[in-house]
Amino acid sequence: MAKELSRLARNGELSYKIRRVLEENRIHIITLDGAINTLEGNTDKFGLYAWLYEEESRRISKRIKVVFRQMAKRGEFKGSIPPYGYNVHEKRLYKRTDETVEAVRLIFQLYLEGKGIESIAKEMDARGYPTPGQVSGRKNAGVYWQGTSVKLILQNPHYVGDLVQGRSQTRSVTSKVRDTLPQDEWIVIKDAHEPIISREDFEAVQALMKNRYVKRPKAKKHLFTNYLYCADCGTALWYLQNRKAYVCGRFKKHGQNACTSHSMKEDHLTKLILSDLRELVNAGVDRATVLTRLELNVTKESQEKVKRVQKLEKEIEKLKAENRKFLKLLADDTISKDEYKEITEFNRNKVEELQRETVKAKKFANMQVSQKAFMQHLDKLLELDELYEAILQRLIARVDVGENQEITVQYRFADPV
Ligand SMILES: [Zn+2]
Repeated sequence: MAKELSRLARNGELSYKIRRVLEENRIHIITLDGAINTLEGNTDKFGLYAWLYEEESRRISKRIKVVFRQMAKRGEFKGSIPPYGYNVHEKRLYKRTDETVEAVRLIFQLYLEGKGIESIAKEMDARGYPTPGQVSGRKNAGVYWQGTSVKLILQNPHYVGDLVQGRSQTRSVTSKVRDTLPQDEWIVIKDAHEPIISREDFEAVQALMKNRYVKRPKAKKHLFTNYLYCADCGTALWYLQNRKAYVCGRFKKHGQNACTSHSMKEDHLTKLILSDLRELVNAGVDRATVLTRLELNVTKESQEKVKRVQKLEKEIEKLKAENRKFLKLLADDTISKDEYKEITEFNRNKVEELQRETVKAKKFANMQVSQKAFMQHLDKLLELDELYEAILQRLIARVDVGENQEITVQYRFADPV
């Protein structure tokens, strides 16, 4: 016997497991709210009830999230553990009076001096500062500083005096995974408490972090690198900066005994391939066919936009319905007037945003092809006056260069159209 099913069936997966155990072991279950009585054989509803409970708790958790966000906007610190260097007192942050404040400053200073995160952690150990775990009084807190804690401190925006909340939220009611929200959704109250780090220093550290972790892009390749090969020995050709030409890699490395130069100027090769492509394209492109194909694509696109408009209108209706539900909550006194305003304002803004998108999508839903404009674009495109990496990638598989500059181009297409 259970008081109600929610005790047993907090999520769908679990409820199916319970159902199986009940059936396999001939156990019966009766809930006192009368929803389930397997003696009467209504185990089928298990999944359904589980789903209803999950929906319900999702709704409640959403309400809690919204109320949390609103508390955050009032400037109240809602986390359970204050940032290292701060105490929390009546939901506000205050600088501690011990060495932790100095520790935070040192971490920022060392990083700005060019030290890495791991070596800062070692330095903190060497100087004997308590770890964040120790300060927060966590059971079995580590006695050594970790690079990750140093990094978290360096990235924590609270140190400039701002209260920043809503940086993450749980993914769903049945999951403990937290998702980081995009920065423009954070709730920031400026100068809510005493800063430990100046804004300039904090910004400098953030910029440095970005740069230190971004891998430098590789040196720019030459246009035909990876496409050109020696027709005799099969080695890739190398680009020589001073001659603006490619030569056989084996010749370059091992000299005349290994191969001959197979030298090919980049300019010359570009011109050859462009004229080749132009010829292929102009012989093969039937403008009428291309136009028909384009019109087909446009029709498809506009049909998709019609669908999009329908979807947007449904979403708008859903948001409006949700606001009506919140109105009920207000009528029931479940939420306060302020909370109601807060919650529904978000939906109202979202509705406006979706309506703007609807207007745009509707425009495309009635899109038509202007034949004249299209022909002009096509002509421009077919002139092919420059060779880009993108064109090479799509059209050319490999180019072999012979001893006397004969070239063999392997295109990636059988039929150029
Ligand atoms: Zn060669």
